[in-house]
Amino acid sequence: MKNLLQYAKQLSPNCREATWFYSRSLDGAVPLSARLGTRIHLLLCKRCRRYSRQTLFLRAACRRIQNSRPPKPHFAMPAEMRSSLQARLRQEMEKM
Ligand SMILES: [Zn+2]
Repeated sequence: MKNLLQYAKQLSPNCREATWFYSRSLDGAVPLSARLGTRIHLLLCKRCRRYSRQTLFLRAACRRIQNSRPPKPHFAMPAEMRSSLQARLRQEMEKM
């Protein structure tokens, strides 16, 4: 068992390489040996597992945002109110 663990560690890239390979594997082809090494690394490294979960979460969130339509406003601001508000904001920004 100890030899198997040592062999797995030899196949595993370091954290920086593993996260780089992991990110690249989501976007495109990564050589099989790198994918295998990264998988082994993720089994052994808690921090990189967390990184991979966070990366998947962010990726899914970005896709949801990208695919969602902006919500329809419940009301339309009258044009006069809009221009008045814009003018007021400009005045405030000029003070800064
Ligand atoms: Zn790691």
